[in-house]
Amino acid sequence: MRTSYAVGVDVGGTRIAAGLVERKGRIVRDSKRLTPQAGPFAVVDAIIDLATDLMSGVQASEIAGIGIGLPAQIDFLKQEVEFCTNLPLAGVDVRSLVMSRTKSEVTIDNDGHMAAVGEARFGAAKGARDFLMVTLGTGVGGGMWVNGEPYRGSRGLGGEIGHTVISLDGPPCPCGGRGHLESYLGRAAIAEKGREAAKTFSGRAILDAAGGSSAGITADAVVLAARGGDNVARKILIEAGEVLGRALVGFVNVLNPRLVCIGGGIGESADFLVERASEVMQAEALAGRRDVKVVQAVLGNDAGILGAAALAFDEHDAREGLHR
Ligand SMILES: [Zn+2]
Repeated sequence: MRTSYAVGVDVGGTRIAAGLVERKGRIVRDSKRLTPQAGPFAVVDAIIDLATDLMSGVQASEIAGIGIGLPAQIDFLKQEVEFCTNLPLAGVDVRSLVMSRTKSEVTIDNDGHMAAVGEARFGAAKGARDFLMVTLGTGVGGGMWVNGEPYRGSRGLGGEIGHTVISLDGPPCPCGGRGHLESYLGRAAIAEKGREAAKTFSGRAILDAAGGSSAGITADAVVLAARGGDNVARKILIEAGEVLGRALVGFVNVLNPRLVCIGGGIGESADFLVERASEVMQAEALAGRRDVKVVQAVLGNDAGILGAAALAFDEHDAREGLHR
């Protein structure tokens, strides 16, 4: 039976957003809340509350299922959370818990994959058969799209672009490693650079963007100051862009994608960072690969919701033997 709606849930380190989505990608209604910090079950309860609210008034037979993007490494075949850097969800059976309470089919996947699915179906990467998604948010995630399908690897754990080694003796990464891309480009890393700059007079615009409190300086404050014309903030983002550009050289040389799509809250707002990353990649990638375009994602915060809903439709149709 062909269903009309799916629920897409995008769980981030700081907030959870969800939407009731039609097959063609229209979000009929949406809702969000801050991510509870009181342990794993509070997070699962928040997901269930959001999904239940969105589905109220819709017949169960019209719902294809619930897709949930988590900031975690997920064994896609087993539908298990293996490892989660920014939330205590490792080993928590999110899928079964949500299924038993909502009575809907549930599919979980990595949030970077969900954003890639969203941009591939409805956004900046529509029509691209081979592309790379990089999401710059609390963490650095991503997804690879090969031959028109998400590439997940042997256990569904692939696409962890944020944990590519950039420097052997670089700063510690939230995953426990060292010198990974996320340790240069995650919100915490950019905020730390902003706080460091704000210790001197030249960094005052960053301090102002954070309302005058050094402890309150976030990555968004750095982006805000940069957009307001502050050169110190711009320099922080441009240097981060150089790191991202170097990483892209490696990905582009290996994968030869048509498109690199940069999303996530920081990726969509920090133009200077993305422009510099593109310049470095174009200058340094092996010849023949430089026609790859670097674009900013266009779906904003909706990418994760739309991708999660699209995956829920796909899984429903596969179960029912329907073709998309
Ligand atoms: Zn790491």
